[in-house]
Amino acid sequence: MERGRIERTIVLTTGLEVIPDDITCILCGGPVERRFVEMELAIDSIRVRLPHTAGYVCPKDELEYVSDEALMEAYQAMEVIARETGQGRTVEVIQEHLRTQKKIMEKFGRGKAGK
Ligand SMILES: [Zn+2]
Repeated sequence: MERGRIERTIVLTTGLEVIPDDITCILCGGPVERRFVEMELAIDSIRVRLPHTAGYVCPKDELEYVSDEALMEAYQAMEVIARETGQGRTVEVIQEHLRTQKKIMEKFGRGKAGK
């Protein structure tokens, strides 16, 4: 059975000033710089390109990271797309991602301040 694949580009609004600045690189352990990075995310039938994602870059080994805050916004935007396009099963899968992400952020004391 073939499922429809929906592709979108989303420009996220999460800014660099709202993401934590105490993140360290998992590779070298050094401090990373806040920077906008480009990424793609695919969940079930929805695929999005995120050209303006608040994240981090390690200046030493150029490893890129996406912030939890931007990821949360991306999931929320994907949920809206899934709803609007009638992808019921995908809505559920995305909601599961949202719940997990919320737990992660609460565990690290984040996601409380809002934007
Ligand atoms: Zn590094």
